[in-house]
Amino acid sequence: MAASSNSSLSGSSLSSDPEDYQPPIWKSYLYQLQQEAPRPKRITCPQEMENRPKYYGREFHGMISREYADELLAGVEGSYLIRESQRQPGTHTLALRFGHQTLNYRLFYDGKHFVGEKRFESVHDLVTDALITLYIETKAAEYIAKMTTNPIYEHLGYTSLLKDKMVHRLSRGRTEPRRVTFQRDEKISSPLVRRSALKDTPEKQCSYEKIHNFKVHTFRGPHWCEYCANFMWGLIAQGVRCSDCGLNVHKQCSKLVPSDCQPDLRRIKKVFSCDLTTLVKAHNTTRPMVVDMCIQEIELRGMKSEGLYRVSGFSEHIEDVRLAFDRDGEKADISASAYADINIIAGALKLYLRDLPIPVITFDLYSKFIQAAKLPNAESRLEAIHECLLQLPPAHYETLRYLMAHLKRVTLFEKDNLMNAENLGIVFGPTLMQPTELNALTTLNDMRQQKLVVQLMIEHEDVLF
Ligand SMILES: [Zn+2]
Ligand SMILES: [Zn+2]
Repeated sequence: MAASSNSSLSGSSLSSDPEDYQPPIWKSYLYQLQQEAPRPKRITCPQEMENRPKYYGREFHGMISREYADELLAGVEGSYLIRESQRQPGTHTLALRFGHQTLNYRLFYDGKHFVGEKRFESVHDLVTDALITLYIETKAAEYIAKMTTNPIYEHLGYTSLLKDKMVHRLSRGRTEPRRVTFQRDEKISSPLVRRSALKDTPEKQCSYEKIHNFKVHTFRGPHWCEYCANFMWGLIAQGVRCSDCGLNVHKQCSKLVPSDCQPDLRRIKKVFSCDLTTLVKAHNTTRPMVVDMCIQEIELRGMKSEGLYRVSGFSEHIEDVRLAFDRDGEKADISASAYADINIIAGALKLYLRDLPIPVITFDLYSKFIQAAKLPNAESRLEAIHECLLQLPPAHYETLRYLMAHLKRVTLFEKDNLMNAENLGIVFGPTLMQPTELNALTTLNDMRQQKLVVQLMIEHEDVLF
């Protein structure tokens, strides 16, 4: 009886009460192994070798035989020396004792020392790292193979800091762009209905997926993997770090981390030329704030400006606006007192869109949009464009939707600004959609379709989005 009441007690303590949240316990097993790994013992040559390369020290023994090298190492774990190969003079071999045998590695130097991928300042560092790696990967091979199977990632560092946001995000659920069918009889009545339905759709803030931007990293001092909670062993290049959010994980764990990168504003150096999804994740917004700010400014004071988006502002001033956004982010001053000419703001918006590393209409969907525009039947053309729009990444889709609604409003002032869907299509076609450089030549003739895609998106903005 006592046992069952105990188990029910422990059962209740497992409830997911946030108060019960336990900080993760970093696993120290691999760290202990690294501490135990044999240390390098340099076996020096008693006499000065004439042909010693200047980047080697007294561990260089010249052209000695494999057997003699073995003798010199005297069976001591971690002892090492360098010899010149007898078979291939001019090449060098690192002889290293590990696991009661002598291992021979072809040793290279090109400013740094290496036998494999990792590059080292000194042979001593190379040997230290090799011994740690050999020791851990021999002793704990099975442990390492299994360490990714029970990740603590969900409860950890970076994600637990965002825990509230995550819960909030999950409760909202994922909102997909709604599917619309184009049926003749529905065509006229439905847009209005859809419009009002869209208003209830929660903003897709923060729910975009973004992959981490992992790069091999050398950690100073001991570091633990934020995916599996295990120690990251070795002297250099112990793991990878996401250069957008700073997440640190093993190389093998990086392949399993979900695409939930939450870029750190301090790591995003620029606003222009920054990937669209990365920027909105960093600012926790639905669309890039450059797009929102420029459009708001234009709607405030530029809608009747003749040749809006066609007339270009002074390029030095547009460059100024770019620098202001890169420097001050959403605090950038683009008001009339800073830039009286609205064409500068319109020019900055176009520059922002043109400078995206991946255009708003992404490279991989480019030819689908072009093909859609080539369809002879107006109805199926619209339907095909709509299909393409649904495949855009969410941040791209939201940006395009907002921009098209704005351009539609611009056309309502055509009497003053002389801009209609067709000439806006000419302006924005190549800004919003570009082929990859690889396909640039074969797509020289796409200008007409680029224009048409944008023109149709403006004209049918209410139905398409
Ligand atoms: Zn990341
Ligand atoms: Zn790991």
